Amino acid sequence: MELSKYPLKTYKDTPSDAELVSHQLMLRAGLIKKLASGLFTWMPLGLRVLRNIEDIVRAEMNQSGAFEILMPAIQPSSLWEETGRWDEYGNLLLKIHDRHDRLFCFGPTHEEVITDIVRKEITSYKQLPVNFYQIQTKFRDEIRPRFGVMRAREFQMKDAYSFHFDQSSLDNEYDKMANTYNNIFNRIGLNFRKVRADSGEIGGSMSHEYHVLADSGEDEIGYCDEENYAANVEMIDSKSAPNGGLLSFTRGIEVGHIFQLGDKYSKNMGLSVLDHEGQKISPLMGCYGIGISRIVAASIEQNHDEKGIIWPEHIAPFDYIIIALNNKNYDITSKAKEIYEAIKSSGREVMIDDRDERAGVKFAEADLIGIPNQIIVSKRGLDQGTIEHINRSSGVKEDIAINELVEKISG
Ligand code: ATP
Ligand code: MG
Repeated sequence: MELSKYPLKTYKDTPSDAELVSHQLMLRAGLIKKLASGLFTWMPLGLRVLRNIEDIVRAEMNQSGAFEILMPAIQPSSLWEETGRWDEYGNLLLKIHDRHDRLFCFGPTHEEVITDIVRKEITSYKQLPVNFYQIQTKFRDEIRPRFGVMRAREFQMKDAYSFHFDQSSLDNEYDKMANTYNNIFNRIGLNFRKVRADSGEIGGSMSHEYHVLADSGEDEIGYCDEENYAANVEMIDSKSAPNGGLLSFTRGIEVGHIFQLGDKYSKNMGLSVLDHEGQKISPLMGCYGIGISRIVAASIEQNHDEKGIIWPEHIAPFDYIIIALNNKNYDITSKAKEIYEAIKSSGREVMIDDRDERAGVKFAEADLIGIPNQIIVSKRGLDQGTIEHINRSSGVKEDIAINELVEKISG
């Protein structure tokens, strides 16, 4: 991608209405634009990060054996009346009337819709277990939308729903999802912790949250490493862990949540399957959410410095940025272009800053948008046949021979 043609507008000044550093940097680096309270547009650079996270989540979910589907964002109120959640959710639901005056909501979550699909599609225990997931836009009319995409009203979620013949099958899938979540958050490059959690409005018996550890987190977590115990403080009613160990406290940002729902939805919505003796049973359910768009902000909370964002390798919008110092010098621009083409054909994502800007502007912008590898093409380097490689995260600078560069990158 040539930066001279790329629709990227960055800002030097910290926006006054953004409290969290992630929100400030997302606005300053031109990743998102605010439309209205809790509503954001993902601009090209930001969307690349969001899609990278989606790709990791999708690959790991597919690997786990779950099936991807895509349910409607709009849901009829009648389904929510069946479970009693229309009133329970209350004003968090964005309600909509169609032209026939029928009532709908813009889905904040999809337990009712998936249970409706499964009660029509699945009739025998032989079709279980099964796990369906989607990556989709959700809407929650939050009382206090804040921190940018961290607590938005419209946001991207991965939600999965599994159905089981018995408890041991549900336990297996719950463990499998916990492993899948470990893989996902590790690949994304987050420092996270799995904690015991409250099941909230969704109902059910057992649940765990995944928290990205950050001082700015809205949740407080109590943990005891000796007992390998961690819980959201909402769950804790004493100052010690279950075996008496002392608790330490830290703050976290909830990026994922897994639940065992039991038979609440199948009972309330009349979902049953026939067992091997032809008797009707109510399948047990699990559900598993990941806040895809919140992860972008959570990652920045953990990975930034005073100059800007530092993207972890696997979610970075580009792997390399080439900075041509002095655009007036033909040798420099043509060498920069040649390196750009070579990296591109090696299959890595590369951006070239080919704009007619001062070096200081180019460096500041490259640091702000946080691309992991900066490659500086300069007169000094060309004279000795090298470029300068700067690692955005460690700040380590290294001269690399131009003829070894591409080999190194693709190797
Ligand atoms: P919270 O406690 O933060 O309000 P929640 O427990 O209501 O979240 P879940 O129903 O568990 O959320 O949704 C699954 C995931 O979706 C959450 O773990 C979170 O990462 C993400 N999420 C929830 N609400 C929002 C929001 N308003 N904006 C962005 N992401 C959200
Ligand atoms: Mg939750």
